[in-house]
Amino acid sequence: KAGLEKTRKNFTEKIEQLITGYTKIDDEFLDELEAVLLSADVGIKTTATLMKDIRQAIKNREIETPEQLKPVLQERLCAVLSEGWTGMRLAPEPPTVILVVGVNGVGKTTTIGKLGNYYRQLGLKVLLAAGDTFRAAAIDQLEIWGQRIGAEVIKHSEGSDPAAVAFDAVQAAKARKAEIVIIDTAGRLHTKSNLMEELKKIRRVIAREIPDAPHETLLVLDATTGQNAISQAKLFSEATGVTGVVLTKLDGTAKGGVVVAIKTELGLPVKWVGVGEGVNDLRPFNAQDFAAALFT
Ligand code: GDP
Repeated sequence: KAGLEKTRKNFTEKIEQLITGYTKIDDEFLDELEAVLLSADVGIKTTATLMKDIRQAIKNREIETPEQLKPVLQERLCAVLSEGWTGMRLAPEPPTVILVVGVNGVGKTTTIGKLGNYYRQLGLKVLLAAGDTFRAAAIDQLEIWGQRIGAEVIKHSEGSDPAAVAFDAVQAAKARKAEIVIIDTAGRLHTKSNLMEELKKIRRVIAREIPDAPHETLLVLDATTGQNAISQAKLFSEATGVTGVVLTKLDGTAKGGVVVAIKTELGLPVKWVGVGEGVNDLRPFNAQDFAAALFT
């Protein structure tokens, strides 16, 4: 629930207004409901699906008055988000390798720090790899996170080959019996083919060491950018096999509905949400909690 205040306020207040403003469900009510869903950034496709479901529920007399809309909408949203959802895939034998991709500024480094911290708190040995060799600041920043959470950081000098860093990190993890390796990557978007080549090479060297690695490729997206996050997601999922999304800065936006759009329009599950700048402000995503938080 924490971090969703703005989204909830935007969404729930509009739904409440709608419900109190109407005594019966008519076409005008349904038009307004559609507008509320669209304004919450759940996306055109999902809005259409939800509206169809709701019309059906009205036909079935599951919804007879405006007040009965809320539980049905919550249940449908939860169903959409839960469908086919899986949590993090861990390696059958450690280390689990997690590749993290996304453009600069979305909160990638912070997410790696928080994610490392999550696993550290479970008592696991975590290793971070400074694969964004393009920016010296990115290497330094990762180092600071490593110190903060008690994780070793594998780094090379600025400008070196990111695939070599990834290779070293996986080897070091095996040698030192680390359970989790989290690999940062460059966030500059030169061209799609450029990005694709770099990520492909990283994946190739990792797989040479551990055949089914990386076990997860997480794409970090900034929720405050709304539909722009969707276009970034399209680009990255075409460039590399993204297995899940980390949606950051949910605390700073009313556009939390983008979680739904990511799932339905791109088929990508949101696996984590960032709800603040602190080390503990990363939560595993849970469809039921998310849907419930929107309505209470
Ligand atoms: P990078 O360039 O993608 O590595 O981005 P950074 O990790 O440096 O983060 C950019 C800014 O976003 C920093 O000021 C972070 O503290 C902030 N940030 C990251 N995640 C979150 C979040 O979930 N909520 C909020 N409010 N800020 C965040």
